[in-house]
Amino acid sequence: MRDMVLDLLRAKNGEFVSGQDMSNTCHVSRTAIWKHIKALRDKGYVIESFTKKGYRLIEEPDLLRPSDVQKDLHTKYFGQHYIYMDSTDSSNREAKLLAQEGAPEGTIVVAETQSAGRGRLTRGWFSPYGKGIWMSLILRPKFSPIEAPKCTLMAAVALTKAFHALGLEAAGIKWPNDILVKGKKIVGILTEMSGTMEEISYIIMGMGINISVEKSELPEDIKDIATSFAMEGVMVDRKVALQTILQELENQYNKVVSGGFDTTLEEWKQLSVTLHQDVEVRAPGNTYVGHAIDIDRDGNLIVRLPNGKTERIIAGDVSIRPAMK
Ligand code: ADP
Repeated sequence: MRDMVLDLLRAKNGEFVSGQDMSNTCHVSRTAIWKHIKALRDKGYVIESFTKKGYRLIEEPDLLRPSDVQKDLHTKYFGQHYIYMDSTDSSNREAKLLAQEGAPEGTIVVAETQSAGRGRLTRGWFSPYGKGIWMSLILRPKFSPIEAPKCTLMAAVALTKAFHALGLEAAGIKWPNDILVKGKKIVGILTEMSGTMEEISYIIMGMGINISVEKSELPEDIKDIATSFAMEGVMVDRKVALQTILQELENQYNKVVSGGFDTTLEEWKQLSVTLHQDVEVRAPGNTYVGHAIDIDRDGNLIVRLPNGKTERIIAGDVSIRPAMK
């Protein structure tokens, strides 16, 4: 219905269409039309209205419609199969359903907003309408399921490289799955796998990337810990950001598929903001304070404790922050 109202406005190419005509065509009251216009305005559509003349569409919001994104997308697989949703509860949940139905590798689910975007350990991800890239990517790698957690590191490397290319040079990786700018979180990555002990059926990589979110829009609990491209003074078109990100993800994935994770792990170390820092790591039942000295070939963090011993910390069940001095 909202689409019908929008189509009528678009068809007029910036000329007026009367509320009465719209209500006749859509078979609803003029009040209902007015409500749809308001809903469109809330989403960023600029619609002018004049009594007697009706409504006209002045400007459309910067949306991530497949046709617009794919126009200048030069990847082979990533984003070529593109499921676009105005809203969903969780793009990872949608992607999982698609993967179970056999969706090909490289399929992405992109939503303008998520009502129940998920982070790790069932924490929520704030995904306001049109203000970020809320996306899930389906992978079907042939490597062993033991390698799957390293896909998170791979995504972090690819995203950080994309951010640098987009002008956000200060972005760095916090082990295992965040990207930070000056200590604040700009990305969350959630990797979910399905398969057997021997074989990966699919991996869903959920990524939440804050693009044009302003500080005033952030919920209280993350106001001081979150940031976005806009908050860092970097204005990017979301479409261009998504194209760049998909290209970097595909490049990095191809590297891993053809040559293993070693190069990616080296790049990870270069881009890390966790290594060579004092850290506090909270694992279930244990908190370690120490110096982050390395990550091993499996992507585990190696922390040197004050007693000189080293502790190997496995991703997935920990939260980590700079140690208090
Ligand atoms: P963790 O930070 O523990 O690894 P996640 O990566 O899954 O967990 O992220 C979830 C956490 O991120 C939430 O608990 C919340 O504090 C924070 N958060 C939620 N939405 C956003 C957002 N849009 N930008 C930055 N941080 C967010």
